[in-house]
Amino acid sequence: MNVQTDFESLIKILVLGDLNVGKTNIINQYTEKKFDNNYVATLGIDFKTKNIQLNNKTIKLQIWDSVGQEKYMSINRNLFMKVQGILLVYDITNQDSFDHLDNWMKKIKEVNEFMPIILIANKCDLEEDRVISINEGDDFAVRNHITFIEVSACNDTHIDLAFRKLCEEIIRRFEERAKKFGDDLLNNDINIISETRESIFFLENKKKKGICKKCC
Ligand code: GDP
Ligand code: MG
Repeated sequence: MNVQTDFESLIKILVLGDLNVGKTNIINQYTEKKFDNNYVATLGIDFKTKNIQLNNKTIKLQIWDSVGQEKYMSINRNLFMKVQGILLVYDITNQDSFDHLDNWMKKIKEVNEFMPIILIANKCDLEEDRVISINEGDDFAVRNHITFIEVSACNDTHIDLAFRKLCEEIIRRFEERAKKFGDDLLNNDINIISETRESIFFLENKKKKGICKKCC
């Protein structure tokens, strides 16, 4: 049965990083323009959605929150398989959260070597407490061939930009791969390309037919 949907493509994104770096607030600010000063631990795995316009298309973003603790790594690993891109977050006032980035990168690459990733330095409103310079963040990003953006979930600085950049990168990679598969795939009414190894799962629904019973 076909169900009408309000989007043409679905992109799944994961927000990843140490505990307390601001993952949940980044998502809340982006989806609901909401910021919470109190720390509320993310207990389960949850996602929020937001529709955006990109390249004249309505794209539904499904944004997964993650739990930044080693003991939940198996849950995060499963998410790495399901998403098309990751916002990897550290806190500019927390040295450990920056030092752990290498480890997060390693874990992602173990599952998907080609995962689109944007590096996010959060809490840039706390300039007085800064312990990680912009140059350090930028160097890490250059070394790992990823884009780097400083944001503040508190002030809503560059939050939209961060999600937009990740979506653009996901679509760029998708289009590169679609070319390799041939134009036929792009001309189908509904395209579903699923590769476990590279964890690309992209839905193209030009006639706005319902295709996903679970989440849309
Ligand atoms: P998570 O564990 O990564 O999900 O982190 P949370 O989103 O729960 O945020 C942890 C703490 O950092 C909370 O007390 C938030 O209020 C605070 N926080 C998050 N983002 C920012 C930010 O951009 N600026 C400031 N000043 N505090 C932030
Ligand atoms: Mg959280």
